[in-house]
Amino acid sequence: MSVRTTCVSDCLLCNPAAADDYFQRTLVWQDTWWRLSCVTQGPIPGFAHLEPRRHIPFITELDGPEAATLGTVLARVTRALREAADAEKVYVYVFGDHVPHLHFNLAPHRAGDGLRGGPGLLDPLSPDVDLAAHQAVTTAVRGTLNASS
Ligand SMILES: [Zn+2]
Repeated sequence: MSVRTTCVSDCLLCNPAAADDYFQRTLVWQDTWWRLSCVTQGPIPGFAHLEPRRHIPFITELDGPEAATLGTVLARVTRALREAADAEKVYVYVFGDHVPHLHFNLAPHRAGDGLRGGPGLLDPLSPDVDLAAHQAVTTAVRGTLNASS
């Protein structure tokens, strides 16, 4: 699947003004490749979206200058959010289930707030899969990553 390099007219995040209205968010920073917007509703002050300005549907399609700059940008914006929100840490979530334009949901976390952290993301009734399934994926990803440069 190729990554589109232009705005996609039916993509909410390719129309930042519409996305700002929809999510009740405010643009707080942007550079050539990324923009950060704080959502000004809901239970988590400082909850923010970090998204590439270019239409990149999913994390698995991240490439180019956005891939090259992600680490620096993510470190910078999460540090700023943590300080601004007086949080202990910043949770980072990437799903892609509802808006197929890559975005990082950044959630400053303080003790006692409404965030559940990692275990809250998994249905507690989900059964464990067997060891063979875990080993098959582990072996496959090891093979993929060590076969490529
Ligand atoms: Zn888009």
